[in-house]
Amino acid sequence: MLSKFTMVKAMLNKFEEKALSGNGISYDEGCGLINIPDSDIFEILASTDRIRRFFKGNDVNLCSIINAKSGLCSEDCAFCSQSVHYDTGVKTYPMVEHQKIVEAAKGAMQNGAREFSIVTSGTSVGKDTDVNILARTLKEMKAQVALERCASLGIMNEEALRKLKDAGLQSYHHNLETARSFFPNICTTHDYEDDVNTIRTAKKLGFYACCGGIFGLGESREQRVELALTLRELDVDSVPINFLNPRPGTPLENANYLTPIECLKIISLYRFMLPTKDIVVCGGRQVNLRDMQSLIFAAGANGMMIGNYLTTLGRSPEEDLHMIKDLGLKLRK
Ligand code: SF4
Repeated sequence: MLSKFTMVKAMLNKFEEKALSGNGISYDEGCGLINIPDSDIFEILASTDRIRRFFKGNDVNLCSIINAKSGLCSEDCAFCSQSVHYDTGVKTYPMVEHQKIVEAAKGAMQNGAREFSIVTSGTSVGKDTDVNILARTLKEMKAQVALERCASLGIMNEEALRKLKDAGLQSYHHNLETARSFFPNICTTHDYEDDVNTIRTAKKLGFYACCGGIFGLGESREQRVELALTLRELDVDSVPINFLNPRPGTPLENANYLTPIECLKIISLYRFMLPTKDIVVCGGRQVNLRDMQSLIFAAGANGMMIGNYLTTLGRSPEEDLHMIKDLGLKLRK
């Protein structure tokens, strides 16, 4: 009779072969993967490291963001300190001036970032004045900063996205946050389909679509597989993976569902399911992975966010650049 360990190895070999073909593993296989015991994590990492290197080499893609409009959001996302529904004491301000965004992009470039994203709170940047500020900002960024230009502006219609594309926007970021079947537990103020349609529109207009989620909200392991499948159906180009850093005052302030190994398994799952895509580890990296941060690349990530997050501080860029160098990885140009 085969030992449990031999069975895990055989399963991983099969999944790895499938991922290396570019297709990614199925829903059932994904469910098998995430239920492999924690004690076999290094077997999983050996596989995902090979898949990452096969498709992405040793390049690491760094992105950075600015919170260009903070707080007062009418949505009720249960993890978010920027929602008007919760008393979190988060800083609130309207859209910042374009010079401030351009300066922040220059700083991100000095820190080694390759992509810079303008992020705003709220359901959508619908107001013409805000869209006009953003269009002007993008034109100036294009002229002054050699970084890929990304934005995360909520649920957008085709007309506004087209205007921003004409001004120089290259990537559009919009997370689905969680699986369709779990979304009503997290947000009741808009439909999942509104988010899906925003990604479909961004893809239709030729944007590089950056779309992922946040984990540790109370979703089941199977729902993590479900989200990966939806992202595969949408053919997103890059998958940001966030881990919940519980914010005081939000309904999830006491949530505690993740361990460092669970986080690594989530990254691995996404590398197995979306083997050819960019997998980028974003918010919640330090607090959830702690001393295991450098293993995100073995788990399959080929990118990470550098600098501060939306409402919380990140690790110093110097430390992150050191980690990448020590691992023998190099920054994607
Ligand atoms: S996640 Fe975005 S949409 Fe949801 S409450 Fe926060 S700012 Fe608003």
